[in-house]
Amino acid sequence: MVSGGIACRSLARFSRLTKIACAVIFMFLAPTILGGDTLGSRTNDHTLGAERSAHKLAGRTSNHLMDELRPYGNSLVDPGYGHLAHDRSHDREDLRRYAPNELGKIMIVMYHDIQSEEKEWVRSRDNFRKDLERFYKEGFVLIKLSSYLRGEIDVPAGKTPLILTFDDATPGQFRFVEKDGKLMPDPGCAVGILLDFYREHPEFGCAATFFIDFPAPFGVPFQVEAKLRFLLENGMEIGNHTYNHRNLRNSPPEQIAEELGKLTAAVKNMCGYEVCSLALPFGAYPQHKEVLASGVWEGVEYRNLGVLLVGAEPAPSPFSKHFKPLAIPRIRGSEEELSKWLGYFQRNPSAKFVSDGDPNTITVIQGDEKNADPDRMGGRTLMVYGTAAGYNQSAPPSTSPALTAPGR
Ligand SMILES: [Zn+2]
Repeated sequence: MVSGGIACRSLARFSRLTKIACAVIFMFLAPTILGGDTLGSRTNDHTLGAERSAHKLAGRTSNHLMDELRPYGNSLVDPGYGHLAHDRSHDREDLRRYAPNELGKIMIVMYHDIQSEEKEWVRSRDNFRKDLERFYKEGFVLIKLSSYLRGEIDVPAGKTPLILTFDDATPGQFRFVEKDGKLMPDPGCAVGILLDFYREHPEFGCAATFFIDFPAPFGVPFQVEAKLRFLLENGMEIGNHTYNHRNLRNSPPEQIAEELGKLTAAVKNMCGYEVCSLALPFGAYPQHKEVLASGVWEGVEYRNLGVLLVGAEPAPSPFSKHFKPLAIPRIRGSEEELSKWLGYFQRNPSAKFVSDGDPNTITVIQGDEKNADPDRMGGRTLMVYGTAAGYNQSAPPSTSPALTAPGR
């Protein structure tokens, strides 16, 4: 991770100066990396200059390239351009090594209970530990769901963000044990397993989102506040699963607002935290969806940046035109579903979100920029680059069938 960190900074450094929203900068891998003179053919008037200049650049060393590029810098509006030209050889190396793709898909994994034995809707402790090991080895880094919803994705270059969610606030997710007179997470509950893994692999992170419902999230009424505070103080977060774990399919708008507002108020009163995401109980989508994103209940305002479904495929990048905040898919945390989608990403690495290491830029593969949603970018800069490998993907597996999640 040390070398990754250094390289991450180098990639981040080149782009940090480019702050103009939606400026599109085309970058190209060196002809030596491409294995042929494709530089000229990939250039157009939107890029570094006229086509003839691009042909002149092909085949030069990086020093020559820098000399050739410099005069064009003055004519471009983007203040980051000069920096890019100066550091181009480094840019190419980082792009080749990390192949960032910030319009790729992100897995939001949905767990329910964690217990000793594997069952339907229950992941065994051993298998949950194995899942974490597998995610870590395959280059994933945990982020909060709220970070994804806000497009604030800050993971090292080359890494893929991953979101863990837990529905129903069961005791198997979070149980306290007493140690030296203090309450600590049981090492056999989801929070304990996650924090133990994080201690061994701090670069993996320990972000997770717990979709809770009342009257007693995690089962022990007098420990509710302590547990919610513990989660928030340890890099995890709380989401809305309705106050009564209600099936909202046929609920009138007032009842939906009450279920969402009452939970928002309870969490806020307990620990001053505002929930900003909703997982629908039983995966039941209401007919009245207008009150899902925001509303008021007894003077309490609530706002959900995202509404999560129960199934059934990886979620779009938050910068993608395909991102729908009111219908965000998740993958079930079961052997079959995880193997299916992890296998797909192994066979199709260009299908997944790969970070460029800089939260202020959105780096995408040439040809894919049409899928970026300008309204989702905030003040971030869109960067586009060509690749030697192109952008071939096999078709994704069929989405999993609609699921009905259990309740309590
Ligand atoms: Zn539920």
